[in-house]
Amino acid sequence: MSAQNPVFIPGPTNMPEELRKACDIATIDHRSPAFGRMFRPAVAGVKRVLQMGAGEVFLLPSTGTGGWEAAISNTLSPGDTVLAARFGMFSHRWIDLCLRHGLTVEILETPWGQGAPLARIEAALRADRDHRIKVVLATHNETATGVRSDIAGIRRAMDAAGHPAMLFVDGVSSIASMPFSFDAWGVDIAVAGSQKGFMLPAGLAILGVSPKALAAMETARLPRCFFDFGDQIRSNATGGFPYTPPVGLIAGLARSIEMLEEEGLEAVYARHHRLAEGVRRAVAAWGMRPCAALPDLYSDTITAVVVPEGCNGTELVQLAAQKYGVAFGVGLGEVAGKVFRIGHLGMLTDVMVLAGLATAEMCMADLGWPIRLGSGVAAAQAFYRGTAQPVAMAAE
Ligand SMILES: *Cc1c(COP(=O)(O)O)cnc(C)c1O
Repeated sequence: MSAQNPVFIPGPTNMPEELRKACDIATIDHRSPAFGRMFRPAVAGVKRVLQMGAGEVFLLPSTGTGGWEAAISNTLSPGDTVLAARFGMFSHRWIDLCLRHGLTVEILETPWGQGAPLARIEAALRADRDHRIKVVLATHNETATGVRSDIAGIRRAMDAAGHPAMLFVDGVSSIASMPFSFDAWGVDIAVAGSQKGFMLPAGLAILGVSPKALAAMETARLPRCFFDFGDQIRSNATGGFPYTPPVGLIAGLARSIEMLEEEGLEAVYARHHRLAEGVRRAVAAWGMRPCAALPDLYSDTITAVVVPEGCNGTELVQLAAQKYGVAFGVGLGEVAGKVFRIGHLGMLTDVMVLAGLATAEMCMADLGWPIRLGSGVAAAQAFYRGTAQPVAMAAE
């Protein structure tokens, strides 16, 4: 018997059987036209998901972290200044990556559980009269705390300050699961990864790059080679790749986007919102609360649950793995032990989420936490029953 349970970590996410098969293809010669036929639909699909017109999409053999590195190394020079708010482990890691590349980072320290501080971003840009700040970095969905920031609001703050900086957005745990509008938000680089909303194995960094960011390459002096956009542009133009591409993942990405579009992107976002709302009802019924400070900030892909005083979220995650074979996310950094995280993105249904909530409850009861078995599940059940959508995914 297979003891495979769904995972409730915020990535890698559960993979549809169909996408596992789509990645499993025979060897092809990546210098033959067969590669271009596989590559172009994936690139075109990413543009549709990002809602992006002009600019380039790059599919790099890497993960989200490599996507961050590609973004900065192609557009900036040593000593350049970037502006970033730090309010969780992922915003922290992007800042750390910039520092290690010799950039100057103006850091807006922000309490974990809050989102990007729009007024402070605007004030920092207004104060920067000689335009030293080249880029504003924004973590759309801070996966450590379950906080979604207002990217359109950051663009408005930048415009209000009349500042010419570029806007780079980490959308690794939001893109393909929550609405994203590259053009409307004036994004210059968006970074995603294959293993979250796209429901694929890890291995691809997926980037959308605006004409303005492409132009910045001309003067950017940070060293780059493997991630050089220039090499990609020259090869991609003829349907090729500067080195051996991960063809299985690229084939999988094209199929993933077809699946998302068959469901309908708006329906995909609505499904994530419903699933998330059910989880939040369960959390409230347990007498707990999300780490995100305000409902406006609630993420539809991940909920970091603040555990009661005297309880340890990491113990719940360990017990769930050992006793029930179910994966939740541990608290990271500042909130280690204080939260556990329920990932609710990718291939998930009401029924799967209910199983995850039931497992979390069993662990809480095992650990002697003050909850009543079934309380969270019942709250989510009531919500899912009342809002159920006709199932479009029946045996195809
Ligand atoms: C997962 C994640 C990343 C990237 O992580 P990789 O392991 O390098 O793919 C970056 N940012 C956020 C917000 C994430 O959730």
